[in-house]
Amino acid sequence: MKLLEERILKDGHVLGENILKVDSFLTHQVDIRLMHKIGEVFAEKFANAGITKVVTIEASGIAPAIYVADKLDVPMIFAKKSKNITMNEGVLTAEVYSFTKKVSNTVSIAGKYLSNEDKVLIIDDFLANGQAAKGLIEIIEQAGAKVEAVGIVIEKSFQDGRGLIEEAGYPVLSLARIERFENGNVIFKEADL
Ligand code: 5GP
Repeated sequence: MKLLEERILKDGHVLGENILKVDSFLTHQVDIRLMHKIGEVFAEKFANAGITKVVTIEASGIAPAIYVADKLDVPMIFAKKSKNITMNEGVLTAEVYSFTKKVSNTVSIAGKYLSNEDKVLIIDDFLANGQAAKGLIEIIEQAGAKVEAVGIVIEKSFQDGRGLIEEAGYPVLSLARIERFENGNVIFKEADL
């Protein structure tokens, strides 16, 4: 997605070896126009796929996921990272290890929001080592629902996430694919959409 790549080049900041900071338009302040476009691009791709739910993980997956769900006209569900006292029964969970934060989180979705009739599109802001997407897939499959594909805004292709998810049998579609960082600059490879 050309517009996204241009925005990353303009406003993204490379931190250390392998982190891209995009908090001016995606992970903190959110550019609504860009989110609209992201919603359109994913929705066009999956218009005839029979998607019934969009699933993401809090917090920064929520913004793009809402716009995709809006365009597909289906509900958006975000997995929660902390235990919620109102979520007391039928909770589906998975462990998600964060390499960036070096902690493991239990993420959860109330089982009543997913069923074996659902066809799910997973959307997330970043794909790095694939642990967040893997956890979401585990939860969705516990509900007997089908994962149609994993849609990613920014994929860091030099990390293991894409391989992990594809080897497990799920298509990955990314709007921007980063091949590497070079002297603080972002080098892209060809994106999927
Ligand atoms: P994974 O589970 O694929 O290793 O990492 C996915 C999650 O880690 C994303 O949802 C995102 O919140 C966070 N993340 C991973 N790499 C980056 C990065 O380079 N920049 C930002 N802002 N977040 C990242």
